[in-house]
Amino acid sequence: MKQKKQVILAVGAHPDDMDFTASGTIAKMVMEGWDAYYLICTDGSRGSRHHKTTHEELTKTRREEQEEAGKIVGLKDIFYLDHRDTQLPCNPLLKAQIVRVIRITRPQVVITMDPMFHYATSSPWNRNVAFVNHTDHRAAGLATMDAVFPLSRDRLSFPEHEQQGLMPHKVSELWFTSFEKKEYVVDITKTIEKKIKALAAHKSQFDNFAKVKEEVLSHAKHFADEEEFEYAESFIRLVLD
Ligand SMILES: [Zn+2]
Repeated sequence: MKQKKQVILAVGAHPDDMDFTASGTIAKMVMEGWDAYYLICTDGSRGSRHHKTTHEELTKTRREEQEEAGKIVGLKDIFYLDHRDTQLPCNPLLKAQIVRVIRITRPQVVITMDPMFHYATSSPWNRNVAFVNHTDHRAAGLATMDAVFPLSRDRLSFPEHEQQGLMPHKVSELWFTSFEKKEYVVDITKTIEKKIKALAAHKSQFDNFAKVKEEVLSHAKHFADEEEFEYAESFIRLVLD
C-alpha cells in the first residue's frame, strides 16, 4: 500500500520568521522525505531601516529573498497573503485564507508562532534587554491556531472551499515556535548550515549578518545544552490526533 505523503506547513507573519525559528527542523524533515510549505501572511514591507526604500520595492525584495531561502530549505512551495506589514488582523478573512492553504496542502504538522507569547523581561540574545513580540507574530499564531482547530476540520467552516474542490482536513499536530521554552527540542546539527544560509538570503534585513549568525548559533546551542547533540530548535508541541 502506498504510504500517505507526509506534509508540513509553516505559517509565519513575515518573510524570514520561519527561517529564524524553524528552518533547521523543516530542512531536516525535507531530508527525511517530507513535503514542506511556507505560508507568509504579510508583505514584510515595513521591515527596513533604510529611508529610501519604498513599500513596493521592499515587498518585491523580501519575496525574492524568501524564495531564495525556500530553495535552500527545500520547500515545495510558498504561499503569500500579502497583508500589510504591522497591520495583520486576526479576523475571519485571515482565518479563511489559512484554512484554504491547509485544505490545499493537507499537512499532518502545522508550525506557527506562539500566540501566547506577548513579551519577555529579557531577550534570548541579551539578558538585560526586554523583548516585545511583534503584533503580526501574535496575530498569525492565533489565526493559525483557530484555522487548525476547529475551522479546517469542519465542513461548514468556509463552505465555499468545498465548491472549489477543497475538502475539510484534520491536522494531527500543531507546533509553536519557541524563543525561550525548551519543551520539544529538535536536533538540527545536520541542518544548522542550511538554516544559516537560508537566513543569509534575507539580505535586506541585516546590516551585520556576522553578528546575527553568532546569535543564532548561540541560541541553537543553548537549546541543545542538556542534549547529546550540538544545535537545536525548540517548539511547544500539541498532539491533536
Ligand atoms: Zn517577523
